[in-house]
Amino acid sequence: MSSPALMTEGCFLPMVNLEPEAMQTGWRGRAAALSWDGRPLIGGTRREGTGAMAIWSPVHGGLLYEAALCSADMVDQAVVDAHRACERGVWSDLSPRARGMILLRLAELIVENHEELALRDTLEMGKPIASALVDIRDLAPTLCRHYAEAADKIYGDVAGSDAASLAFSLREPRGVVAAIAPWNYPLPNAVIKVMPALAVGNCVVLKPSELTPGSALRLGELALEAGVPPGVLNVIPGDGVTTGAALARHPLVDMVTFTGSTQAGRAIMATASQSRIRPVILECGGKSPQIVFADAPASDLVAPRILGEAFANQGQLCVARSRLLVHASRKADLMAALEREVRQYAVGDPLEPATTFGPLAGQRQCERVLGHIAGALRDGARMVAGGPVDRPCGVAPTILDDVSQGMAIVRDEVFGPVLTVQSFESTEEAIGLANGSSYGLAATVWTAHYPTAQTLVRRLKTGHVTVNGTVESYEGPGMSLAGEPRGDSGFGSETGLDSLRSYTAIKGVVLAGGPCRSADR
Ligand code: NAD
Repeated sequence: MSSPALMTEGCFLPMVNLEPEAMQTGWRGRAAALSWDGRPLIGGTRREGTGAMAIWSPVHGGLLYEAALCSADMVDQAVVDAHRACERGVWSDLSPRARGMILLRLAELIVENHEELALRDTLEMGKPIASALVDIRDLAPTLCRHYAEAADKIYGDVAGSDAASLAFSLREPRGVVAAIAPWNYPLPNAVIKVMPALAVGNCVVLKPSELTPGSALRLGELALEAGVPPGVLNVIPGDGVTTGAALARHPLVDMVTFTGSTQAGRAIMATASQSRIRPVILECGGKSPQIVFADAPASDLVAPRILGEAFANQGQLCVARSRLLVHASRKADLMAALEREVRQYAVGDPLEPATTFGPLAGQRQCERVLGHIAGALRDGARMVAGGPVDRPCGVAPTILDDVSQGMAIVRDEVFGPVLTVQSFESTEEAIGLANGSSYGLAATVWTAHYPTAQTLVRRLKTGHVTVNGTVESYEGPGMSLAGEPRGDSGFGSETGLDSLRSYTAIKGVVLAGGPCRSADR
């Protein structure tokens, strides 16, 4: 049976357990036998003739392959192809049900190919193979089915009118959607952008992260195999400044959906409005708190969950609960439990099935995270656990105590395995610390006191709040409960039916009629 894996704010917290499949040996041999094709997929075919970028593996620090670095010309070809597919109506003219059926077939193809896709994600960004298998076999197809099944459940409204007229709204696809994705959950992040856009009839140009184009390119091929017409989903590898910017700026793009850092989100918002005005969804960074009140469950019970929320995916998670706020009366006890629990992580080679904590996504990412830790130590923080690991791109789950609200380590998103610890004396102080961030993605509250939980739910300035649990606690509805990011975390909803709606434009229609009874009235 699979372990649950859930999404919140476009991010995912898979619970890693070791399943028979993951325990297979031989991942290293299969990795060596894997072939890569980094050419863009445009109009249903792989195209030649563009720049190149090296794809390095954090698993061994070596070169995996060279992918295309799509130039502005190549971006133009992809967008023009998608625009033509829109104009011809090859996808939008299908019934929602027919589109949904094709996307359901795509979900099955992801399942059929999940080992290969998981291996690609592990090799490109270093997540343990056990966790990548959960991402691809469970999470990505679940998301895919979620949007496919919703394709025929998006309706317009009928307004009241005089008896002779009919007034209603239609929800139409926006046209060409430019989807720009990050590297932390390569395939699920592609799916969460592409599927709702396709489900309601748009054509998509997907630009995966320059670190992880492999599984997104395969997604494009599987979509063709499932029956998505050529040109409807195009995948263009490349970097942000060349490929991403050219895509966000292209005048034939009707909407931009972006997941990534707040810094890049700002740039994209500006770029996207340069050649024309168009809607943008931004799912950006976070610095989410988890708040432990004096009456929270026993420390041995909450400690593994607190660490799980902070260190899932090596802490490379937008909704990582990276700030622990604990009531002063519970701090000593909880810290002791955390120190015991953090030793349980099996830090090591991600191709070893028993590894639960792999390398960070690359050397630059590793140096960035270690730079944050060094800066915190210089500012007076105390390292309770963690620090560098003597492996490629290795950083162990790190807990930093003696930090204060003004320190950079508490303010800035690390996007790595770093949990800071602060204590509070009162509910007001806890709320002040929790809301003292420019970000607003998510929060977790641990308390046995219902009124305290309710106060926190209402006053925390985040798109999502979990009380007394982790995202794994609510598998099904979690899909639609991610909420909308606040502050520097972005805006727009990527989950549930709201997500599909955001990829549509409302058209108001009035069928004005003549007298509806007899001419002499
Ligand atoms: P990033 O911002 O560096 O890159 C994300 C994507 O944007 C990549 O495809 C990149 O090539 C592209 N890009 C970068 N600059 C661009 C520009 N100027 N114009 C156009 N495209 C550009 O982010 P990353 O390092 O890939 O991912 C980590 C960040 O993503 C973290 O901040 C994390 O919190 C955030 N994230 C947010 C969510 C969410 O749903 N809120 C989910 C996952 C990751």
